[in-house]
Amino acid sequence: MADGSWYDADIDRVIISEEQIREKTEELAKQVAADYADAEGGVLLVCVLKGAVMFMADFARALGRLGPSSEMEFMAVSSYGSGTTSSGVVRILKDLDRDIAGRHVVIVEDIVDSGLTLSWLMKYLQSRSPESVEVVALFRKPDAIKVPVPTKYVGFDIPSEFVVGYGLDFAERYREVPYVGVLKPEVYARS
Ligand code: 5GP
Ligand code: MG
Ligand code: MG
Repeated sequence: MADGSWYDADIDRVIISEEQIREKTEELAKQVAADYADAEGGVLLVCVLKGAVMFMADFARALGRLGPSSEMEFMAVSSYGSGTTSSGVVRILKDLDRDIAGRHVVIVEDIVDSGLTLSWLMKYLQSRSPESVEVVALFRKPDAIKVPVPTKYVGFDIPSEFVVGYGLDFAERYREVPYVGVLKPEVYARS
């Protein structure tokens, strides 16, 4: 998908296009809007930084047009240990700013890989006495699931490959790429 951007040369192929993301986000917002139409106090969206930042921004606006009203919270978590695989032991880098007791919480996630991070996060949020907790994840890698997570709303099932774009990074880069794709092997070789 060459559009004259700096990253064109680094992308091997596009997995999910901008248009597909836009349509799916609308679809997910419709489902959530229908399920929470009568939710008291609206929904409290909890974005998991940094990867879900683009999805949060687009999903919240899509939901806003349909209702119910929503509020935004942000959390940042990191798995202990080195390497590219999640250990399941999670460290909170940025916690919620307020009480979620009695609220309808919807976790907004970029991608569910092993499920370890999300499984930990659901338990953590549930321990704070919300009225309900559900997850909306734009992507899921079905082959990689180590821990079954009740992810109620899922956008796309994608192959178990490392992807970048639409918030997802490689070494903090490529988050601004508007679609989701796979990097060329030489990109890894030169880092
Ligand atoms: P899990 O605990 O489910 O294994 O890991 C979840 C987190 O790892 C995701 O929220 C995401 O931030 C990151 N992650 C998982 N798969 C990918 C991927 O293919 N590309 C990128 N950039 N990050 C990923
Ligand atoms: Mg994430
Ligand atoms: Mg990352």
